[in-house]
Amino acid sequence: MSVPPLREDVALEPRDDGGGSLSDPLFGRRIKLDARGLGICRALARAGGPAELDAIASEVGAPLEVVRGFVDKLVALDLCATERAAVRVAERRALARVMREPARHLATLAGARFACTMCGSCCGGHNIGPVSEAVLDGLGAAMGAIEPEVRAARRIDKPVFVVLPGAGRDAGGGGDAQVMCQVSDGSCVFLDDLGRCRIHAALGGDKKPLPCRTFPWELVATPGGVRVAVQRECRDFLRATADEQPLVDESRAELEALVAALAEAGGLPVARSLPVLRGRELDSWAAWEAIESELMAIVATCDGVRPRETFAALAARLGAADRGGAGASFQLWREHLKSPLETMRRAAPAPDERVRIRIDALELGLEALEHARGWVLARALGEHDAEVARLFKSHLEQALWATTIVQASSVEAGLGRLVAEWVLARLIALVRARRVKRFHVTAQDVQDGLTIASFLFRHDDLRPLLTQLDPLTTAVFVDDVSGLFARAADLDEPDRRAELVKF
Ligand code: SF4
Repeated sequence: MSVPPLREDVALEPRDDGGGSLSDPLFGRRIKLDARGLGICRALARAGGPAELDAIASEVGAPLEVVRGFVDKLVALDLCATERAAVRVAERRALARVMREPARHLATLAGARFACTMCGSCCGGHNIGPVSEAVLDGLGAAMGAIEPEVRAARRIDKPVFVVLPGAGRDAGGGGDAQVMCQVSDGSCVFLDDLGRCRIHAALGGDKKPLPCRTFPWELVATPGGVRVAVQRECRDFLRATADEQPLVDESRAELEALVAALAEAGGLPVARSLPVLRGRELDSWAAWEAIESELMAIVATCDGVRPRETFAALAARLGAADRGGAGASFQLWREHLKSPLETMRRAAPAPDERVRIRIDALELGLEALEHARGWVLARALGEHDAEVARLFKSHLEQALWATTIVQASSVEAGLGRLVAEWVLARLIALVRARRVKRFHVTAQDVQDGLTIASFLFRHDDLRPLLTQLDPLTTAVFVDDVSGLFARAADLDEPDRRAELVKF
């Protein structure tokens, strides 16, 4: 029986004890070998073409089955010159080319438009930064002019930058401290009344901290180039991506400078190259792109009005079969997600003389989950009006382009998270509208809900939990998504209480 030879670019390094190691620099791997393993690898390397298994077995003095099992492992790790390994090697080299000069390999979404409307919403509601040492140094001299202006406008008596401990980022709960832009009354102190950044106005956009420069772009390196998407955490997303705005391609020069700066700072994310679908790693990034195009086509051809149809079609493409029982599982999923959010709320220190803690988004998320039952849930799953339909379609397109769904433990779980995030966004929109005594929910309410839901789904503290929840998320929001939509209204007892409203 013939087996493929070793790839030409892997190297064998013998050790004094008779064993050795096999190093695969392209994939960054080094595999330790005993004497027999080294012997098999040498025979495969020497062959130059298909090698005979019996000849290798007699050369190393091992049973045929043992040698076959060992070679199968090498093949599974793409260390032998198979067709699949050739594709993966080519894609890995393509990714390396992209990473060497990422600014030269921008991949924009066809027809996508964006122009910042300067609404200033992204500079509030969360801590802004981190600010690197280099940026702080660069701002040093200019701060003498900007700081008095900030102090007078905001009536503050505190530094314009604040040092936050990186709590919870390591096993000891400590982590690296981070310098952030100071916040006053919920928004960055550098923001002026017209929604403009004072650093940008005085010194130019390239002097701002990198996270501020990057937002709302979402940039991800793939073997086909650096994907450029627009984050839906941009609160003016609908206006900023409307038909009258310029094409994203027109921002190419700005994007090239940004991508180069991100790469230099080691902050350019790389997409998982071999997504896992239904328990099996895909053979190549190209195989994923073929599936991704089909998902994109489903989104492009849907009307965006009926989320149930769109989600069911996407789920079906990923091999979903309606198994029923989504109702009970949804309640379980909701309880699993609520529990860590409640822990985070309890862990937030009480405000004191020196510190104010804002947990509005966390509380909205919790309240939305609390109300995710019966007719409220059915409303959150209902049809969209035209404007929400546009947001829905655009959100899904941008999320797919940003490779969001391949970042979960499986592609189907990634889709499940996307569905769950949209449902949570609409629930938050309902809760926020009710806070200002409105029953009707606007597209801006949903956009604001999406901002919060998206923020929660990306939160560092929640990511491990989301990974644990992936099987349940898949069961509820992919495999049983039609059942969830069909039975949402029955997930609770009908409301029988008299309800009184008092100020
Ligand atoms: S939220 Fe969006 S549109 Fe508004 S300032 Fe930020 S990037 Fe610009």
